Amino acid sequence: MVGIVAVGGGQASFSFVQKLKALGHKGVITLVCSENCIPYQRPPLSKKFLLGDMKKEQLFLRPESYYQDNGINIVIGKQAVKLDINKRKIELEDGFKLTYKKLFLGTGSSPRKLPNKIINNAKNVYYVRNIKDIQAISKQFNSKRSLLIIGGGYIGLEMAAVARKLGLEVTIIEAQERILKRVSSEITASFFRNLHSKNGVRIRENVGVKDFIMERDHLKGVLTDKGENILADFFVVGIGIEPNVELAESAGLEIQNGIFVDDRCCTSNPNVFAAGDCANFPYQGERIRLESVGNAIEQSEVAANAILGNSAHYNALPWFWSDQFHVKLQIAGLNAGYTEVVERIDGERISHWYYRDGEFKSVDAINDPISYMVGKKLIERGQTPDPKNIRSVSFNVKSLLRG
Ligand SMILES: Cc1cc2nc3c(=O)[nH]c(=O)nc-3n(C[C@H](O)[C@H](O)[C@H](O)COP(=O)(O)OP(=O)(O)OC[C@H]3O[C@@H](n4cnc5c(N)ncnc54)[C@H](O)[C@@H]3O)c2cc1C
Repeated sequence: MVGIVAVGGGQASFSFVQKLKALGHKGVITLVCSENCIPYQRPPLSKKFLLGDMKKEQLFLRPESYYQDNGINIVIGKQAVKLDINKRKIELEDGFKLTYKKLFLGTGSSPRKLPNKIINNAKNVYYVRNIKDIQAISKQFNSKRSLLIIGGGYIGLEMAAVARKLGLEVTIIEAQERILKRVSSEITASFFRNLHSKNGVRIRENVGVKDFIMERDHLKGVLTDKGENILADFFVVGIGIEPNVELAESAGLEIQNGIFVDDRCCTSNPNVFAAGDCANFPYQGERIRLESVGNAIEQSEVAANAILGNSAHYNALPWFWSDQFHVKLQIAGLNAGYTEVVERIDGERISHWYYRDGEFKSVDAINDPISYMVGKKLIERGQTPDPKNIRSVSFNVKSLLRG
């Protein structure tokens, strides 16, 4: 029977099918997942799951029975390999073909690889994206081994925090002038640099890899562009991600740093929708792609509404979080192009409020859930708080929400 097909078993596809059901859709829904398990949450992979504080079953977004109870056909462990947008057919790796009325692509993203294949295939070089990756890495995380992390983004920093908690010796090298360069401001990066240093992580910024030192099929270390050899027992590479666009691209859909969609999540073909890490969408007069759970959920819900013919437009309000050591960072909004940053320090609670040409744009809240909650609401309302009030600890930020 022809129905709605969702490809990808991540947060986006899960939220999409869940929303279809919540909206009362009674037609056939098929969810195709290339990984060998039902949809699960990725954030704990580099946090509690790696630390051993969470079991695999706790990662699942819903138990298996959810799909049966809701009449969702779920295909596990099969990649969709061919898409024909004229015949509205999708072909799986085993040759099985599905015809769709409407198609949703939640194909997500994959870790960006080092340019050298030999290094990527080395037995002790790891990437972080799925359960299997963490199961392999965690075997290395149980003794006083040394770890070199290439890349000082959120994944690298979270991996470092867990590794230190488990007593490993950890070094991070970051090719840019500072950690978190692409995703955070200098002031927030500086907080995390100090946090990691205090906890014994060696952070080397502005340091690129000039050469890799191999011994048979193992990487022994790297020669940096500063002339230093850094040796380690194993290596984690966290240098960003690339959207999974191959299926969409080969079908002739428009691609622009991700699958090109409009504010209804519709691609260049009216019967195909996309959301989550793989989708590039309009945002405040520009086009962006976000890599976060919040975006995957909210964008997919818009796609579900749009497919069912409801009026829905994606007005992204980005939100994100990261856990490192005892610190929870929560971010609301995007600070791109900020012209002023105001710091609020209230004991252990710290927040950075970003303004662009006088307009409040985003907040980074460090162990400060109230500033996060208030900042997020103010962005939603398009309200700009007076920087003087924000700076003043005696000022109750919650009062900004009154009226
Ligand atoms: C270790 C880690 C920690 C993170 N921590 C945070 C965090 O703290 N906060 C936060 O907001 N975000 C975090 N993120 C990011 C967040 O998890 C992603 O933004 C989110 O998972 C995106 O969901 P998605 O469904 O778009 O993509 P994905 O989660 O990548 O899911 C896509 C799925 O589709 C499958 N697929 C791809 N192509 C096909 C195909 N052709 N056929 C069938 N299946 C296919 C993939 O195998 C994958 O299972 C983290 C990510 C990682 C990896």
